[in-house]
Formats: sequence, structure tokens, C-alpha cells
Amino acid sequence: MKRDFGQRQKVVCLAAVLLCSGCSGERIIQLQRTGTAMGTVVQQSIYTSDKDSSIREEIEAVLEALETEELSWRLSTSEIYAVNAGAGEENGTVLSDELSETIWRCMELGEASNGAFDITLGQVVRLWNLDSQAAGEVSGAYSIPADDALQEAQEKSGSSKLILNRQERRLILPEGMALDLGAVGKGIAMDRLLECLHEDDKVTGAIISVGGSILTYGQKPDGEPWRVGIVNPQDTSGYIGVLSLTGEWCVSTSGDYERYIEVDGTRYHHILNPATGYPADSGVAGVTVLTKDGFLSDALSTACFVLGSRQGMRLAESYGAEALFVEHDGSVRMTEGMQELLELEY
Ligand code: AMP
Ligand code: MG
Repeated sequence: MKRDFGQRQKVVCLAAVLLCSGCSGERIIQLQRTGTAMGTVVQQSIYTSDKDSSIREEIEAVLEALETEELSWRLSTSEIYAVNAGAGEENGTVLSDELSETIWRCMELGEASNGAFDITLGQVVRLWNLDSQAAGEVSGAYSIPADDALQEAQEKSGSSKLILNRQERRLILPEGMALDLGAVGKGIAMDRLLECLHEDDKVTGAIISVGGSILTYGQKPDGEPWRVGIVNPQDTSGYIGVLSLTGEWCVSTSGDYERYIEVDGTRYHHILNPATGYPADSGVAGVTVLTKDGFLSDALSTACFVLGSRQGMRLAESYGAEALFVEHDGSVRMTEGMQELLELEY
């Protein structure tokens, strides 16, 4: 049996302060930092006029709180953990305003994508256990889940089975079901970081990557656009193209090269088709979605990957999002707006 693990988390920590001058003549410094949060690598590059700025630490604290207090299915301190632990309880679980709104938006997207996007795949995701495998956290031989176990787990999914009372912020999760918000975590993180940046009037610009989801904000001191490379799924050491972005944007990518395991020549990746319980096989190798809204870009990238380029393109357009699909045969499809922002590398 051949095993080949996908992306391993690298822990790199560095901090640098570079000096440069802003357009207004005000002294702008660039703060950089690479660290880890939410189980992934976070790279920050922030321009500010405050030489004593603690924005990098604030950003890390926001990500830490999002993971430990809201989204983690592993940590007993989080709301999602409490929801999952309360599955089958008649009165359900009372959520924070933020999580209630998130769940509502996830349910809407589940409907709009005809079930391709589904946050109730928790049991199926656990069976595949690809996140832990790809992160190298599990030793020993990997075995693909048995068909009957998958079917049983799949029967315990379906976001239409969720009952959310938005006024009371009360969520009822049926017995045996489990939520997994892995498909939107980084997107929500981008929204929270944008709030953080808006609140700091000394910050003039920023580009931040949370595990490959990228947000841009404000301006670079030299007035040049932010440049964001899109990984080539067929050769992940290179880019398929580079986006030139001005101001605030959220860029999310879902790809079968991000987290996977190979068994006997077959790649099993982490984006699942809720209709089969197996890794989605829509012909897409990678899809990148660009919006002003982090939640939406992340949720749409996952949904579009499952739907494939034809239906995915329609879904993205219905939300006014820009999208780029790279198929397994190397062909590329994108929305018109994306064409204007992207310079292809070949
Ligand atoms: P992303 O990398 O943003 O596409 O999200 C993938 C993660 O979302 C996986 O690691 C799972 O935790 C979860 N997931 C997998 N398939 C789906 C799906 N069809 N809908 C919603 N979440 C999913
Ligand atoms: Mg996503």
C-alpha cells in the first residue's frame, strides 16, 4: 500500500519590522509575522503608522478565540462542541448571535447548492479522518472507511434536518448528527480580521493569509495593487496565475491537493460529495472564489468544488462572486470579472 500525505503543517515563526514611507509622507511601517492559528499557517503583512502597534497580536487572539470559543469540533470549550454534544436533545442548544447567523447562512447555502455544501457531514468527515491523516497526526496504516459505515454516517447528515430558531438563537441537531464547519472556518476568520483592521485607524493596508485563504485590505504604500498567486493544482510549487487586487477582497481556494491521502494510486481528498459520502469527483482539481465577504468566498469555494465548473459557475455568479476553476485535464474556466483581475502564468 502506497501512502503519500498531503500538506503537512509547517511551524515557522518570524517577526520583522521594515521601514518605508507612505504616500501622504506619513511614516508607515510594515509589520510581518508568520505563525500558526486554527491549526494552520497564518502569514501577516500589515502597514501601519503606529510603531507600537499590537495589531499582529490582536489578530492572533481573534483567531484563537474563534477556534476555541466558536468553531472547533475537537475542543470542549467551543460552541460547536456543545451543539454536537447536545445532538438529539429536544430543546437543542442556544447559540451566540454570531454562530446563529453563521449556521443560518450555511443552511441557506446548503439549499442554494442543492445540498453540495453541507455542514452536517461531521460523521462522514470523522470516518475519513483525512485532516488528521494529512497533518501526520495518525500513525499506522490508513484504511478507507467501509461502505456500510459510510452509508450509516451519511444517513446522519443533511442540513435540511437542522432546526434553527433565529429569534431564540436555538439550534436543534437531530440525534447522531454532528456539525463540521471546516469549509467556512477560514472565511469567517477573514471577516473577523477585516473587522479588526477596520477598527484600527492606524492601519493603512494589509495582506493576510490564513492557511491559503487570503484577505487584502487598504493600500500598499507604493500604490501598487496587492498580488495574490493562485496555486497550480497540477504543480503545486507554481502558480496558475496572479491576481492584482485593489482594496478589500477575500480569496478562498478549495483543492484536492490541499489535504489528501493516496492509497494504491488513488487520491482520497478532504472535500466530500454529500450525495455519495466519497471525495467529490466533479472533474475540478481546484477552484478559487473571490468576494468581499470571507464567509461567502470560503463556503462557495467548497460548494463549487463539489458541483463542478458548470453548476459551480452558475452558483458563484448568483452570489455576484468571481470564480476560477482548474479542471483535471488542465483546462481553466472563469467568470468575466476574474479574467479582468487575473494574469495567467502561461
Ligand atoms: P475547504 O477546504 O474550505 O473546501 O473545506 C473542506 C473542509 O470542509 C473539509 O476538511 C471538511 O471538514 C468540510 N467539508 C468536506 N466536504 C464538505 C461539503 N461538501 N460541504 C461542507 N463542508 C465540507
Ligand atoms: Mg471552503
